[in-house]
Amino acid sequence: MAKEQTLSIIKPDGVERNLVGEILQRFEQNGLRIVATKMIQMSRKQAEGFYDIHRERPFFGELTEFMSRSPVVVTVLEGENAVAKHREVMGATNPAEAAEGTIRKDFAESIGENTVHGSDSLENAAIEIAYFFAKIERVNAG
Ligand code: GDP
Repeated sequence: MAKEQTLSIIKPDGVERNLVGEILQRFEQNGLRIVATKMIQMSRKQAEGFYDIHRERPFFGELTEFMSRSPVVVTVLEGENAVAKHREVMGATNPAEAAEGTIRKDFAESIGENTVHGSDSLENAAIEIAYFFAKIERVNAG
């Protein structure tokens, strides 16, 4: 297994409910290391840019309105198999289908407001990390 980096977002519903510390702790407890993190509030346009691949989906408007309504915490996590590990800790997109003990099972209230985002591939992780973080903001980014 190779060391990877992935992009994690604590979505507005997570930050609004004061769950930042608890969620970051779950990543650390599962062997993922924080190499960069910050709180930002995305504009509608920035949220649309981030979710560009979903532009044609029926929930695009709802999703980008939600993601820009209040601050989010964006984090770069590093570890063995980090992309898959982070998605495992996060749980299925729909909290009703998420496994016991996952973040979405424990905290998410709907398929739309599902508390966390995680990159779905190593290729997308690199694109998403570059969307939010300059090289100088990432520890050991070379
Ligand atoms: P993820 O990789 O598990 O986040 O899931 P997707 O890439 O399929 O979807 C991206 C995000 O769009 C999800 O995390 C949800 O916030 C949102 N989303 C997905 N499906 C739906 C839906 O049917 N309705 C709404 N309102 N939002 C959705």
